[in-house]
Amino acid sequence: MQVPLAVSSNSSALNCLETLISHGRLSFSQGIDLMKNPDLSSVTSLANMVKSARFSSHVFFNENLHVNSTNICVLACRFCAFRKGPRHPDAYSLDVNQYLERIDPYSSRIDEVHTVGGLHPSWTVSEYCKLFSSVKEKYPHIHIKALTAVEIKHLSSRSSLSFHQTLSTLAEAGLNSLPGGGAEILVDKVRDRICRGKESSAEYLEIHGIAHSLGMPTNCTMLFGTVESIEDRITHLVRLREQQDESCGFQCFVPYPFLPDKSRLPEAQLATGQEIIRMISVSRLMLDNIPHIKAYRMNIGDKLSSFAINCGADDVDGTVGHEEIMHEAGSKTSLSTTSEQMARMIVSAGSIPVKRNSSYTQFEIIELPESRNSKSLPILTMEGN
Ligand code: SF4
Repeated sequence: MQVPLAVSSNSSALNCLETLISHGRLSFSQGIDLMKNPDLSSVTSLANMVKSARFSSHVFFNENLHVNSTNICVLACRFCAFRKGPRHPDAYSLDVNQYLERIDPYSSRIDEVHTVGGLHPSWTVSEYCKLFSSVKEKYPHIHIKALTAVEIKHLSSRSSLSFHQTLSTLAEAGLNSLPGGGAEILVDKVRDRICRGKESSAEYLEIHGIAHSLGMPTNCTMLFGTVESIEDRITHLVRLREQQDESCGFQCFVPYPFLPDKSRLPEAQLATGQEIIRMISVSRLMLDNIPHIKAYRMNIGDKLSSFAINCGADDVDGTVGHEEIMHEAGSKTSLSTTSEQMARMIVSAGSIPVKRNSSYTQFEIIELPESRNSKSLPILTMEGN
């Protein structure tokens, strides 16, 4: 592969390239250098080279639906626009029938339901077991990706079960994987300022490690642009990388910026478009053992997601259908995007759209209607999956 001029003419990017070529791993200080490198194009070009070496021009998406179980939450994280107190007029908690009714209109065209919610004051593991077993009974083809680490911690405490027992019980009821939400920044002094009372950094990693030990894949995330430093962001990436070395179950990393409004976290530094792109590129370069880096279009929008495809991202959030958490916080991203529109977005970025299943074990190249037929893609081998 030819080294882009932007990389070969930038000493910091060239130094990282040499480390990567010698099968080395970028250090904390190289991560900081990439964050401070004034030449963003050298960082994005390097990240695109690494992404292309792993996945060629393929870019992945899936057909999924977000259904939130409840917005009632006992915590009040300072960045959160989603949670409501139990007496708020817009507070809700879905029962089994309401949950299935949300899925029903989409059930024939999705293969994943993504469910997260608030920390309900009275729900235990059994409420979620009922939701998940009902989905598996009615729609056995649907993969259930649900419950963030703090929800697992809350359910575990409410049900007097260990994290291991909680996850095993939920898995038996049908839970297939965990989303990565709630990682925020894995530095406790930052967490104390933005989400006091949530699980600690160590607990987030412990819960994901236990899920991995049960054969349950998970994603991991980062919320940036609040009050953290550049060093905190790189510390976050290094902690995820170390956890992945141990438990090997993170499938995908999803970095996204804080979406501001006038009332929440007024001291947040916020992230510009350039900073969002840089964060995606640096994540690709630092996380050598996490295969997929997602452009989370529910948060960063379709235009920036399309740009991110050439800056290190290999995965774009799916068709989604319904989403509340980012939209309550101000996201304007369309919720009625079809597979064909997803494919067009990926093609317009010069890449090949590949529809995948939740566990990245089945793939289909999507060809646009001009050449209608779709072909099966051989299963790719991915380290760390
Ligand atoms: S981020 Fe999650 S835990 Fe925090 S207040 Fe919002 S719903 Fe509750």
